[in-house]
Amino acid sequence: MKLNRLRNWALGLIFLAFIVMYIGVFVPVLMPYLLIIGIIMILISVFIYFRVGAMSMQIPTLECPHCHKKTKVLGVEDGCMYCQGLIQVEMAEDGGLYLIPRSKTT
Ligand SMILES: [Zn+2]
Repeated sequence: MKLNRLRNWALGLIFLAFIVMYIGVFVPVLMPYLLIIGIIMILISVFIYFRVGAMSMQIPTLECPHCHKKTKVLGVEDGCMYCQGLIQVEMAEDGGLYLIPRSKTT
């Protein structure tokens, strides 16, 4: 779920960059600066996209205890990508990872 949030962030940043550059059309004095800011913002979001893609390849897919779909978890505690249910990563005795549901109170 954290990966999805990062991806949404990158998407929002691209939209924001377009808005910033669009303002430049109406304010010719600021145009060069706004264009540079817009381009930098797009580069950052492209970088985030790239990182998210690389990270999701390294992360093992585990079965969600709530909806039993294969989900990707970032860190020890995260939410399911499909049902948003809170899950916790536990290590089995043989070293393998598995997911258990996490209570919201803690
Ligand atoms: Zn789930």
